[in-house]
Amino acid sequence: MTTQDEIEEKYRSLKKKIDELKFISTGSVMKVFIKCGKPSCICHRDKTKRHGPYNIWTRKVDSKTVTRTLNDEQTKLVKKCVGNMREFEEISRQMKVLSVQYIENYKKSRLKGDKN
Ligand SMILES: [Zn+2]
Repeated sequence: MTTQDEIEEKYRSLKKKIDELKFISTGSVMKVFIKCGKPSCICHRDKTKRHGPYNIWTRKVDSKTVTRTLNDEQTKLVKKCVGNMREFEEISRQMKVLSVQYIENYKKSRLKGDKN
C-alpha cells in the first residue's frame, strides 16, 4: 500500500507540473473552406472554389459555440494552449485520485489509532 508520504510526494510533483504549464484553452482548431458574402461569387456554385483554408478556433462559452478566425501564429498558440488544457485536466484527474487515496488512508490510520 502507498504511504501518506508517498502520496504527498506524488501530489507535490503534479503541482509542480501545473506550475510549469503555460496558458490553457478549451476548444479546438480546424481548417475550413468557406463561402463568402457575395452570392454571385463562384464559391457559391462550386464547392472546390470555396475560400480558404482558414484556421478556425471553436469553443463553448456558456453553452454557446464561439468561433474565431486565426492567423498562423495564433493557430500555433491556440493549439499549444489546447494541448496544455488536456495535460492540465489529466494532472487534475490524477490529483483527485491521490486525494481520495490520502483520505481513505487517513481514515484507516485514524481507526487504527482509535484501537490502540
Ligand atoms: Zn466567394
